[in-house]
Amino acid sequence: MSFTMVVVKLSNRYQLPTNTNINTNKKVIQQMKQCDYCAKELDSYHLMYCKDTDCEEKAMKFYETRRRTENVFGVINIAMVVFIMIGLITAVFSPVIGNFMVAGSLIVLAVTVLILPYAPESFYKKWRIKKTTFIVRIFGVLLIIGACGFSVLALYYNSK
Ligand SMILES: [Zn+2]
Repeated sequence: MSFTMVVVKLSNRYQLPTNTNINTNKKVIQQMKQCDYCAKELDSYHLMYCKDTDCEEKAMKFYETRRRTENVFGVINIAMVVFIMIGLITAVFSPVIGNFMVAGSLIVLAVTVLILPYAPESFYKKWRIKKTTFIVRIFGVLLIIGACGFSVLALYYNSK
């Protein structure tokens, strides 16, 4: 072990935490104190879920279902985004067919998102499972409203 390594080791060991370090530690502890499922504050830093609730059970069920279905979810998502783009291009030449294609794809996407409400990992870090699932389902409802809009558009062009 070289002299510089010893110095670095010692200085690391006896280094007093700076203010920024204390702040980041506090932040980490605050995040750890939240229930992984419902985001409620926890009594102990060692716990991951609320005590005397079914939060842990629900979270396990969520992770298990997601593990089994996230590939299906991904494939349907990509396919529907492609269909929506094809639909939008088609709508330039044939508004009725194009808008119906977009509406149909949005409905399939909405139903998928409502049944399998998955979001990127950063959502779960911020809002945990329960709230993220709720937000994703609201997004699903918005997709249905969007689908209705495109259907109305298609019907409008059809009646002209
Ligand atoms: Zn909880």
